[in-house]
Amino acid sequence: MYRTHNCGDLRLSDVGTEVILSGWNQISRDLGGMTFIDLRDRYGITQLVFNIEEDKELCEKARKIGREFVLRAKGIVRERSNKNPNRSTGEIEIEVKTLEILNASKVPPFTIDEDTDGGDELRMKYRYLDIRRAPVRDNLIFRSKLALETRKFLSDHQFIEVETPNLIKSTPEGARDFVVPSRMNPGQFYALPQSPQTFKQILMVAGMDRYFQIVKCFRDEDLRADRQPEFTQIDCEMAFVTRDDVLATFEGLTKHLFKHTLNVDLPVFPVMSYDDAMEKYGSDKPDTRFGMEFISMNEFTQNKGFNVFDSAELVVGIVAKGIAPTYSNKDLNDLTEWVKRPQIGAKGLVYVRYNEDGTIKSTVGKFFSDEDLLDWGKRMGAEKGDIIFALSGETDKTRKQLNELRLEMGRKMGLMDPKVFNPLWVVDFPLLEWDEENNRFHAMHHPFTAPKKEDEARMLGGDFETMKALRADAYDLVINGVEIGGGSIRIHDRALQSKNFDLLGFTKEEAEAQFGFLLGAFEYGAPPHGGIAFGFDRLCAVLNGVNSIRDFIAFPKNNQGRDMMIDAPSPIAELQLKELALNVTVKN
Ligand code: ASP
Repeated sequence: MYRTHNCGDLRLSDVGTEVILSGWNQISRDLGGMTFIDLRDRYGITQLVFNIEEDKELCEKARKIGREFVLRAKGIVRERSNKNPNRSTGEIEIEVKTLEILNASKVPPFTIDEDTDGGDELRMKYRYLDIRRAPVRDNLIFRSKLALETRKFLSDHQFIEVETPNLIKSTPEGARDFVVPSRMNPGQFYALPQSPQTFKQILMVAGMDRYFQIVKCFRDEDLRADRQPEFTQIDCEMAFVTRDDVLATFEGLTKHLFKHTLNVDLPVFPVMSYDDAMEKYGSDKPDTRFGMEFISMNEFTQNKGFNVFDSAELVVGIVAKGIAPTYSNKDLNDLTEWVKRPQIGAKGLVYVRYNEDGTIKSTVGKFFSDEDLLDWGKRMGAEKGDIIFALSGETDKTRKQLNELRLEMGRKMGLMDPKVFNPLWVVDFPLLEWDEENNRFHAMHHPFTAPKKEDEARMLGGDFETMKALRADAYDLVINGVEIGGGSIRIHDRALQSKNFDLLGFTKEEAEAQFGFLLGAFEYGAPPHGGIAFGFDRLCAVLNGVNSIRDFIAFPKNNQGRDMMIDAPSPIAELQLKELALNVTVKN
């Protein structure tokens, strides 16, 4: 027998029991007469004690055991004199009678502890050692629990899990596909799914009514902390639903997940239109843990002789409350430099500082009198002690820049409480996005998204300007400024779907070649349907108040898309290439 208990099990009530434990040597300490080993497994750490006076040989054996050796120990549970309140087993220890080395270990390349001295790449290369560390282990346990709770909730709501294929034809979700050459069909390729979008819609045509899948998706994009080439979605689709049915169901799922993992009760999710989000926050995924909403300043700042404002499409500002006393001129200069960095791209930053002694200091003091600036304050709700920041220029760009500044101020002012969760539905996105450069429309969500009911007729018969203004029956769930997921009510009518493909620049033949199966299915009684997908890795990260999704993926890839442990991607043999009819010269 390897064990009677695990390393997190034993308590004071077990004192006197003979037990067997197996695990890894986290650390051993030699105090002359006594040797201690912290024995670790997934469940916890239990202290083993060896007393030289009782068994010299055993004690000497214990002394020689290196870090991460795999051990089996048999002994008696006893009360510790020196208790460790930070550990679930901290009140007891095991007086060891026999010790067996099950396997030796090389000295690990980094410390296997709560904090580690290992850099990212090293940790990924030796991920099996990294996963032994409590924080990584706990993240994987959390993920498993989140998946389980997802399945429980959805299954209680009549969803069934259906697996869709991984070797498919590309679905245009806006990213590049990973492709797989077909040996049996030389010169032809499968694509790995960017999402099971078309399959889940087909399942609705097939009458499955409510589908879900916790599913791997693949997108060949540039990587960042919150992006991986393969990631997981909670993917869902429902038949005979309106937008509000979908929102209610997935608000329910989100609340269930927060309740059953963090014991947090989320409030009712507010619903905000895309236009409002852009106007108030300059972002379609606003962090609503704090206010600092945008205030349009055109009306009272233009035509007063300040050319920068006069020539701008939009003058817009935010009020940072109570920071005037602590913000030095240098801080303000630094902030100005910050918005001028190429990543943000503002030409300059206008500020008005309302000092507590009643004086006012502003970068535009030459153009506006104190009276003017007091009037700005009144209109924008800025009082003594506050600072107004304003940007101006072309509307979309200026809003984006002010969004960055608002978030930066939120961070600096400590307004993003990691313990607070603010969910928000953003709805009514534009259906199509005009791409100036390539002179064409793109689908803002994807080509299967339906326009809002009231826009259907205009879509079938409207002109170019009408098309630009069409609204989609699409929605995103945002929590604390992070897009958790998105979805839409779908087109289920062949004529409307063909029109959409047409607007997106597909010829009839191209649409037929790529999506003939879906258009065909729409001719056999497709029910109205809609759905959503949540980024599962991202949801794990947001629930834990962190940014990096890598921490929640057992075997993540690095920024170059490489798996450091198995060293992939890698070249393949000439013979394999030949079999796949790939004309590639391999350089080794
Ligand atoms: N397939 C979409 C996505 O991956 C989600 C959806 O529309 O259901 O973003």
